[in-house]
Amino acid sequence: MRYFPTPIVVVSKCLEFGPVRYNGEAIPDKVVQRLDEFVEFMPVCPEVEIGLGIPRDVIRLVDAENGPRLVQPATEKDLTETMVRFTRGYLDSLSDVDGFLLKGRSPTCGIADVKVYNQSDNAQVIKKTDGLFAKEVLDTFGGLAIEEEGRLKNFTLREHFLTKLFTIASFREQKNSGQLSRLIDFHSNNKYLFMAYQPKILKEMGQLTANHDSLPVPTVYNKYEQKLMELMANPAAPQSHVNVCQHIFGYFKKELSGDEKRYFLDELRQYEEEKVPLSTVLAILKAWTIRFDQKYLKRQTYFEPYPLELVEISDSGKGRAYT
Ligand code: SF4
Repeated sequence: MRYFPTPIVVVSKCLEFGPVRYNGEAIPDKVVQRLDEFVEFMPVCPEVEIGLGIPRDVIRLVDAENGPRLVQPATEKDLTETMVRFTRGYLDSLSDVDGFLLKGRSPTCGIADVKVYNQSDNAQVIKKTDGLFAKEVLDTFGGLAIEEEGRLKNFTLREHFLTKLFTIASFREQKNSGQLSRLIDFHSNNKYLFMAYQPKILKEMGQLTANHDSLPVPTVYNKYEQKLMELMANPAAPQSHVNVCQHIFGYFKKELSGDEKRYFLDELRQYEEEKVPLSTVLAILKAWTIRFDQKYLKRQTYFEPYPLELVEISDSGKGRAYT
């Protein structure tokens, strides 16, 4: 069984952690419930932190020349500077953090899909953007695992979020050790996972671990970290998974019977045609990894990038990339 670090995740407090919404309610969230055993959550409600009560009058984003303002129409308060000041101080205070799980569509915590009105007392929506807290999070920690709860109902986006979250947490552990040998092992164990994301960046990361320029170890880690975040910016493409599975299949070609090979290639084709999930193909490869005692493959995180208990195959069928 794989060892997993405990990722540190900042979460919108109204998701499971307290009745802090404007209407005094909390929101049940299955992903937060399932993750609770595996991550260290840091709940925060920025609106409560800046002194707005519970319950409170609604706030909204209103269009302005230098970017949307956060206003409370009922009291005519402009909360923009207060919210930005709180958020920057809060984010500055975080030392180790691996991800953010935020409440969607909130003028404070929502990502990309937050309504912007043309006037504070007018219901006309003219565009959508990030909430004020979320914008600062993206500006400061854009490379980490950051999602809103609604998008995690989509299977692909959830897989990507969890994979990225546990990979970044593992990287943080290696980085905190300050040992180059730990980075080399990390890179080796993640080879096929990273190949599924971006083969070109995988190579660049490999060159960094070789450290031909004899750079100080912290510099190597920092450069590698930038590449890691670039590599995991978007979910891996299905065709990339096909390529990686073919690579791994290559380890066993000489050992397998013709029927076994045909069966595998048929399953891989069905994955390409979206008739079976990737997990079906990976289960075959993993079984062969154990049967033929392939030690290098046994260490590959690709087979289990996050705890199996978090695998959930349900899919809303909805979801979009931010970029
Ligand atoms: S969305 Fe954010 S600001 Fe709004 S209640 Fe939840 S935690 Fe608080």
